[in-house]
Amino acid sequence: MKLWDKTLLELHKLLSSREVSSIELLDSVLQRIHEKEPSINAYLCLMEQAARKQAETADRRFQKKENLTYLTGIPIAVKDNICVQDYPTTCASKMLKNFIPPYNATVVEKLLDSGAVLLGKTNMDEFAMGSSCENSAFGPTRNPWDTSCVPGGSSGGSAASVAAGEAVGALGSDTGGSLRQPAAFCGVVGLKPTYGIVSRYGLIAFASSLDQVGPLARSSFDCSKILQCIGGYDPKDATSVQLEISELENNDYFQKDNSQKYLEEIKNRIIGIPEEFLNEGTDSDVKQAVTQAADCLESLGAKVVMVNLSSLKYALSTYYLIASAEASSNLARYDGVRYGLRISKEKSGEMFKTTRSDGFGKEVQRRIMLGTYALSSGYYDALYLKAQKLRHLIKQDFDKAFQKCSLFLTPTSPTAAFKIGEKISDPLTMYLSDIYTIPANLAGIPALSVPVGFSSKNLPISVQLLAPRFQDFLLLMVGSFLEKLSLEIP
Ligand code: GLN
Repeated sequence: MKLWDKTLLELHKLLSSREVSSIELLDSVLQRIHEKEPSINAYLCLMEQAARKQAETADRRFQKKENLTYLTGIPIAVKDNICVQDYPTTCASKMLKNFIPPYNATVVEKLLDSGAVLLGKTNMDEFAMGSSCENSAFGPTRNPWDTSCVPGGSSGGSAASVAAGEAVGALGSDTGGSLRQPAAFCGVVGLKPTYGIVSRYGLIAFASSLDQVGPLARSSFDCSKILQCIGGYDPKDATSVQLEISELENNDYFQKDNSQKYLEEIKNRIIGIPEEFLNEGTDSDVKQAVTQAADCLESLGAKVVMVNLSSLKYALSTYYLIASAEASSNLARYDGVRYGLRISKEKSGEMFKTTRSDGFGKEVQRRIMLGTYALSSGYYDALYLKAQKLRHLIKQDFDKAFQKCSLFLTPTSPTAAFKIGEKISDPLTMYLSDIYTIPANLAGIPALSVPVGFSSKNLPISVQLLAPRFQDFLLLMVGSFLEKLSLEIP
């Protein structure tokens, strides 16, 4: 039976009623993976044998009706910057080509506890730096809707795997848009949770004050189930918030059939569209999608207003200074001494230099240099410190604006997926594709990307919803009214 095209919810029902076994489901998805991988390249490593064991265990859980969760028996893909014990975690970098972590990330541990089946590790931009998945040391991933286009990045492999039916859901990470922009390019739903509600333990750091792990799936409902599984306080992550997912507001929305109650919740809400988010660089079909989403929310009884968030114009430069500064410090550990690549040379200085020059790709080197420069004594005040002040201002602006509006509606990305090779030689143009996603990371607020239609070239287009901290389920709830599940699978 063809099962790979179904949502997590549909599959959960089929598994629970024992119409389908976890092994059958796994076989269907693996077959699809083998069919699609030659043209998509979403995976860097498949974990077939372990997956089979996990599926067998899941089937036993169903037989005994013990420890059943929404994720029991569900095949999930994991981005390759999230540690899975005994399997390579390369961050799509030559530097970590042979790195096999001796432990699981907390999110992986939680997936396994819930009975999920881990399919493999997905391709990404090296160390999560990029917006197209072209910065992988192991070749680009292609967009399932049009294989001449990028899937977005950096969680491009995860988004493409879900879009192509090569996984039912996936984990990715988002530092400046890496869950939402690929979700938008591939026509799936992606959530960047509130900073601190999902553990970063075992996520290989890019910019620690911005990084968040989050779900990608075919619906907001599916994302909510993955979030419920992976979220919650973790003493192993110093920035983890002391809250369980069940303590977040609205978390019961997807538990019962509550849609009527929540329709009431949307009524009379004020939803803001920041003017700054609809600049000239945004394609007309993207703007049109935002207008249509606004109309849809109004038809549900919400009030949509244009708002001004003037500090947003500084978000992109603020992000590229802070993220690069943190990256330059986080990536200092790859020195050829403790672990990762080592290119032996007689003198240790030569060894460091050659290892780092050969091990890191161009974009990673660019970020390390930019970050080191911004932190250097002569420029610290003018660059890094200023960026920190601007970050504070952006946060304050959001806080103020959330007193008037309960949500913001924006495009996820200024364009639909672009061609492979189109932006790779022009980093600044590439950075601009994150212009709408970055503010949420700077402010630490949750943000959701949901597919709402197609561009004139028949590529998926999404909108983004932003909410105050800890309102992740509000986003998913409103998202579930907007998403066009008819996008399904190319
Ligand atoms: N594309 C952005 C960057 O290159 C964001 C990446 C991310 O969120 N990991 O930094």
